Amino acid sequence: MSSSSAIQAVRGMNDVLPDEIAYWQHIETIWRRLMTQYAYQEIRFPLVEAASLFQRSVGETSDIVEKETYTFADRNGDLLTLRPEGTAVCVRALVQHSVLQQQPVQRLWYMGPMFRHERPQKGRYRQFHQLGLEAFGMHGAAIEAEILLLTTRLWQELGLSALFKLQINSLGTPGTRAAYRAALVAYFTQHHAQLDEDSQRRLDKNPLRILDSKNPAMTAVLQNVPQMTDYLDEVARAQLNQLCAYLDKAGIAYEINSRLVRGLDYYTGLVFEWVTEHLGAQATVCGGGRYDNLVAELGGPASEAVGFSIGMERLILLLQAQQNLSSPVPDVYLLNVGELAEQNALKLAEDLRLALPDLSLLVHCGGGGFKSQFKKADKSGAKIALILGDDEAKQTTVTVKYLREEREQVTVPQYEMVEFFKKELGLRIED
Ligand code: ATP
Ligand code: MG
Repeated sequence: MSSSSAIQAVRGMNDVLPDEIAYWQHIETIWRRLMTQYAYQEIRFPLVEAASLFQRSVGETSDIVEKETYTFADRNGDLLTLRPEGTAVCVRALVQHSVLQQQPVQRLWYMGPMFRHERPQKGRYRQFHQLGLEAFGMHGAAIEAEILLLTTRLWQELGLSALFKLQINSLGTPGTRAAYRAALVAYFTQHHAQLDEDSQRRLDKNPLRILDSKNPAMTAVLQNVPQMTDYLDEVARAQLNQLCAYLDKAGIAYEINSRLVRGLDYYTGLVFEWVTEHLGAQATVCGGGRYDNLVAELGGPASEAVGFSIGMERLILLLQAQQNLSSPVPDVYLLNVGELAEQNALKLAEDLRLALPDLSLLVHCGGGGFKSQFKKADKSGAKIALILGDDEAKQTTVTVKYLREEREQVTVPQYEMVEFFKKELGLRIED
């Protein structure tokens, strides 16, 4: 097949090749450890959901539902959507299985691909990945502080703390939001001529979303909008102050950004973003907030909830600029030449892997002479080549050759190999 006719991946959907995988695995390992430390449990849910789920939760007038979802009818004519985010799906799963009735307090996390039909660019793709968490059944600022402390720890462990700034805001209660909305509508109506097309359309349907506009032409009119923080009631203000007190005590710097509204309809109270100056327009790496009404709206029991999600690709772009992680290489490459040696090699390798669970051992397959096998051993990056020829196989020995050091090769009885690697590579023996 000529290269011009070879099938390509769908635009905006990326392969992650082995030379990049170390960054993904590094973040995933740290994330899993952190989630265990903070006693969050993993939840997994489908990639495909009923389209109505996102219309009811994320919102009909949100960017996501209005223009970004992959929605299609399946062969039965059911309208389905590739999930564009995790929160609504998580809540759907908990409601469906009555999880919160049985245990109202839940700390959950998820990881996986999301789909949005956006214009692909650096840090913005059509299939991307999120790490996210959701905590249910807890009111007050303590749980809000916990998830921000935990994110701070994640940045520290990735060596990225210096790149992030935390912005927070409160969207208040439904009552104060209505009053603020009225003030916004009055202000934008007065400045109608200065609104771009999107914003004019949103003025009736969802005026808060106008604050989220990234159009530079809107900067001037957004400069003097009424401040959300002036409209908060006592309860919302007290909770925001309490969160600030927690953050101050923990030494976490933040900025109150009263124009921060987030792109999803379900937020109530706290909203926040971790932003960076190093990714151009794709500035937000982590966004979240409180959504106390969503569980009931999707048919579950009244339940407080707070959560966030992190864009993996954006985090990886930052990590790649900061440090060089190379993909793992095998410790040992086992060469085998000759019929007897070939038969012996797989068995020897099984014994070694059983006894040394941390050993990464590549067995040469596919034949060839010593010369070609050595070339491959060298290319593999392995530190040590184990040579099994017919002589060794007959004498049940193996020859050790150091590929990265100037050292004499040695021949060792096969039954001593476990001890040899324990010493040589500092590996633990399975007991
Ligand atoms: P943006 O304003 O950049 O479009 P958003 O508000 O739509 O982001 P959320 O829905 O809050 O994003 O998703 C949480 C995080 O997921 C974002 O902060 C970002 O890191 C990541 N993310 C969102 N959309 C994409 C995308 N198309 N490609 C890559 N990452 C994304
Ligand atoms: Mg978006």
